[in-house]
Amino acid sequence: MFVSENLDVNEKGNLTINGKDTVALAEKYGTPLYVMDEDMIRTHCRTYIESIKKYYDGQGMACFASKAFSCKEIYRVMQQEGMGIDVVSGGEMYTAYKAGFDMSKAVFHGNNKTEEEINMAADLGVGRIVADNVFELETLDRIAAERNIKFAVLLRIKPGVDAHTHSFISTGQIDSKFGFALETGEALDAVKKVISCKNIDFRGLHCHIGSSILDTQGFEAAAEIMMKFIKQIKDELSFEVSELNLGGGFGIKYVESDDPLPYDEYMNAVAKIVNSFCKENNITRPFILIEPGRSVVGSAGITLYRAGGRKIIPNIRTYISVDGGMCDNPRYILYQSEYDAVVANKASEPKTEKVTIAGKCCETGDMIGENMPLQHCEPGDIIAVCATGAYNYSMSSNYNRLCKPAVVFVNSESDRIVVKRETYDDIIRNDI
Ligand SMILES: *Cc1c(COP(=O)(O)O)cnc(C)c1O
Repeated sequence: MFVSENLDVNEKGNLTINGKDTVALAEKYGTPLYVMDEDMIRTHCRTYIESIKKYYDGQGMACFASKAFSCKEIYRVMQQEGMGIDVVSGGEMYTAYKAGFDMSKAVFHGNNKTEEEINMAADLGVGRIVADNVFELETLDRIAAERNIKFAVLLRIKPGVDAHTHSFISTGQIDSKFGFALETGEALDAVKKVISCKNIDFRGLHCHIGSSILDTQGFEAAAEIMMKFIKQIKDELSFEVSELNLGGGFGIKYVESDDPLPYDEYMNAVAKIVNSFCKENNITRPFILIEPGRSVVGSAGITLYRAGGRKIIPNIRTYISVDGGMCDNPRYILYQSEYDAVVANKASEPKTEKVTIAGKCCETGDMIGENMPLQHCEPGDIIAVCATGAYNYSMSSNYNRLCKPAVVFVNSESDRIVVKRETYDDIIRNDI
């Protein structure tokens, strides 16, 4: 009945998340409100960690790609669960560090890391850096020399895999700003270069083929391609690569028609490829890193809005406006992403209409979704948009000077604020 397993209906007919009444949460904390099910997030972490134990003898690390959802509390949860993290900016590094995260388990990504960020990574003891281009390799080598340290580095490779996904979020093909291409020989040149860098401890290779991928074929193809490249590096350069980072990108259920695989299938599928390749080719098995982001937090979250007015455009569509929009969820305006919505205070009623849920920002394209099946909704009702735990809060903005919503974590025992709602004073804090 609902897209995420943690959603249900209580005796009042209200939507619940992990047993908590969402209408009561909206009343207690106000709207718009992000609500995240902490228990589900922890379960997903355990599934990924267990899958590495089960299918790859524990010779790997699951890293939460924290661009999907970043705040201090999530890094504390990741620390407690024994996860690594993937960070892509000074801001994410700083947040994790301030939360007390063990930065040796952080992997630093990005196609244009600044010198300031690279120095920060060194100061904070970030465990691994994934280098994106030759200029960056030179910068890393120089900064390491200046500091008399060595950076542990992986190279980001474009494996050339089409992950059957929206082109904006498919990053493994040759025309991508991320990484070194295999087909052109650019990647092999980069490996030669990194091996020659005295102040770099070259660990291995990284690839990330895209996002919202609902099958394992793309990952298997990428793993195979990466292993062949590892063999080529061994054969031609006599260098044994010790680590392989296969990125993230596992899809989740946003709408009823999405049918994601159980998350441990990712590791099962790639481990088979890597294990058999290593055996057949007499290659030492690499330590494997995986970087799930969306699949760790996406289904765990919902956004609660209060419905405003209804606008009926005869024979065209009906708009229902909510008190948030592209400022708290820009995924529709960016990718026309689909979501499922529920009138939280009428969650046991059938969905009798199709409406377009519009945000309150001054942009025509500011919508949560078009023609979404919904219970009959009146002003003041609470609308829950499901599976918003990933790339919503982390992509939110202050467009139109709207305050960012609060984030509440719920678990089987309690609910608590983990990010406070912004105030108008927060909005003008840096204004002179
Ligand atoms: C975005 C990203 C991820 C996470 O992708 P999801 O689709 O959220 O799982 C992992 N690794 C890298 C390098 C990324 O850019």
